[in-house]
Amino acid sequence: MQRTVATFRRGDLFRIEGEELKHIFARRWKVGQKVEVFWEGRLFLCVLESISKKGAVCRILEEISTRPAEPYVYLYQCVPVEIGKMDFIVEKVSEVGAYQLTPLLSSRSFQNLQALEKRYERWRRIAFSSFKQCGRPIPLEIAPVTHLEDLKCRGGVCMVLDSFGGEIWLSEVNLKDVKEVHLVVGPEGGFSEKEVQLLREKGFLPVRLRPYTLRSETAAVLAVGLVMNFSSPPSPTSS
Ligand code: SAH
Repeated sequence: MQRTVATFRRGDLFRIEGEELKHIFARRWKVGQKVEVFWEGRLFLCVLESISKKGAVCRILEEISTRPAEPYVYLYQCVPVEIGKMDFIVEKVSEVGAYQLTPLLSSRSFQNLQALEKRYERWRRIAFSSFKQCGRPIPLEIAPVTHLEDLKCRGGVCMVLDSFGGEIWLSEVNLKDVKEVHLVVGPEGGFSEKEVQLLREKGFLPVRLRPYTLRSETAAVLAVGLVMNFSSPPSPTSS
């Protein structure tokens, strides 16, 4: 189902203008077509009633549930030294179904906090356009930058992806009926031994992915995708 974002609402009508209207023209939407309209954090199934160069009008048919697919995957991603790689990570983990992404600082990650904070707007934009493209019920949340030492295992299954010390394969972790999974992924240079030890003490289980050593961004996308597909089935997200 195609998606757009409303410019404003009056009763059960939405009006779409500006950039979103341009996209609607580019995608050749037709009057009578059913579409999804995002408005103030809520999603609506609508029908396109009219379209002109000035704006498109959609009528609400029903509100759509925005309950995210379970389990809720919280990804703590050590920020790659090549910070541009975060763009890829944001887009891809959004598609494969992560619920929240926390950029993490570790000894071998990108270090410049100010430069990181300047990226947030860009990451939120990427997350939002992925949300429109992939059909997830709410955009990927991007949480504030956190230091590895401040991480906590907040219940559910907590794991650290560790290509050396990983004690078990991810495929061996029991993910049946889990509601929350917390996943920590290292930067290009990996974690220091001390960091893995610290995470272990905090309750994060060191796990490995088969069969080879992956790039940080590949490990993040693969691990989130595996967790989403080998745990409880995702809840229905849209009508
Ligand atoms: N050269 C690094 C490898 C880092 S790969 C090193 O010496 O440790 C970057 C990150 O991706 C790792 O810290 C880990 O979190 C994850 N990763 C990559 N391949 C993995 C694998 N096969 N199993 C588990 N985690 C992996």
